[in-house]
Amino acid sequence: MLSEALQKQRDRLLPCVHCGFCLPACPTYNRLGDEADSPRGRLHLMRAVVEGRLDAGSEAFGIHIDRCLGCRACEPVCPSGVEYGTLLELARETVAEHRPPRFLTRALLWVFASSFRRALFFVPSRLIRGLGIASLGAALMPAVGPLKTAKLALAMLASTTGWSRLRALGNAGATTAGAADSPAGPLSAESSTAPAAVGSRRRVAVLTGCVQEGLFTRLNRATVRTLEANGYEVVPVGGQDCCGALHAHGGDLEQARALARANIVAFESIDADAIAVNTAGCGAAMKDYGVLLENDLEISGRARELSAKVKDVTELLAQAGPLSGAEVTCTVAYDHPCHLLHAQRVEQPPLTVLAAIPGVEVRIVENADECCGGAGIYGITHPELGGEIGRDKVAAVRACAADAVVTANPGCMMQIGAGLRLEGAPEGVLHPVELLDESYRRAGYY
Ligand code: SF4
Ligand code: SF4
Repeated sequence: MLSEALQKQRDRLLPCVHCGFCLPACPTYNRLGDEADSPRGRLHLMRAVVEGRLDAGSEAFGIHIDRCLGCRACEPVCPSGVEYGTLLELARETVAEHRPPRFLTRALLWVFASSFRRALFFVPSRLIRGLGIASLGAALMPAVGPLKTAKLALAMLASTTGWSRLRALGNAGATTAGAADSPAGPLSAESSTAPAAVGSRRRVAVLTGCVQEGLFTRLNRATVRTLEANGYEVVPVGGQDCCGALHAHGGDLEQARALARANIVAFESIDADAIAVNTAGCGAAMKDYGVLLENDLEISGRARELSAKVKDVTELLAQAGPLSGAEVTCTVAYDHPCHLLHAQRVEQPPLTVLAAIPGVEVRIVENADECCGGAGIYGITHPELGGEIGRDKVAAVRACAADAVVTANPGCMMQIGAGLRLEGAPEGVLHPVELLDESYRRAGYY
């Protein structure tokens, strides 16, 4: 039986004129050469299901929808404005109704939605960071069979460690003072001694994220510090939860909607002027809350209001200038996160942030607009294709011969960082805000 949600999306499928302009932008089509693994082919399959010509539980529908990265590179190049990302999520919900997701997918989504993640990521992650277990495990584990996935997962965890961040900052010529993860205290920055910042003191809330607050504590703190240094008043938000992006991408739209509703209530309680997000996938998901909840008339208006306030942290910093810091002499390879470039259409702000750091030379990675293969949990659930795409990205990064790789999304940081680690490459990975934060530290702003 057809998903009610997908039936409601007939209008979204109609604008596709089958021109094929999207095909060259698609990483899965480029590697597999199969029309069914292209955006146009997947839209054909969706339409066939909607029109009852293809069984929603068929293997063909399940496999080709599952194999999509969800990178949305097909959207900006589409002359008809097909809302591919929304259609993909609905198609995945339809698939999930007929073919339960694999155990690994279900297990990962459960972790992100449950309080268990606090135990998993908050306390042990610090232990892992301290002992370097993940790093050691990734180095020693053979890359064969199922161990290949485990080795990748460990390498991804290892790329979030304090040691990895220190290495990246060290490569970038930064001092190590203050470069380690800040202790996980409340989400407010130390008082800033930065010069008077440009603009008014707009009230900004920060999405702390689900695993983000445990694995990327330093990035969350750097987000607050740099926003405050640029004149924003950062207000803490209690009761916020996972943004729901991974659940939506995995076809669990009900759980995604439940998380979205919880976040709407939490962020409404603050009434901030803007909501800063430092994770491209989360930002894209929150900017789409209005669409996700469009059929819930009780909350759809509030969802659209919240979505309008969501900004990537680099958008807010770029709006403020941002304030220039002290010199950090280094070269960085910059790679665009898909959910920032394609889904949010945010291209320049991360580069504006890097331009505010004296001494930083930016080299754009070749094919920087192509997915790194991480794509949420895709790198783990599809180790072969995700690994191939990831290796191409690592090769392009390494060709830049930079001191560090900079990208504005923790998921991409983990995927690229893991790829570099598995190849024994010396480059570390940083978020642009982390480098700006280091520049401000060296300037003595905090
Ligand atoms: S999705 Fe857009 S670009 Fe791709 S075939 Fe359809 S109309 Fe053309
Ligand atoms: S989202 Fe990415 S992988 Fe999926 S069809 Fe579009 S371009 Fe291809």
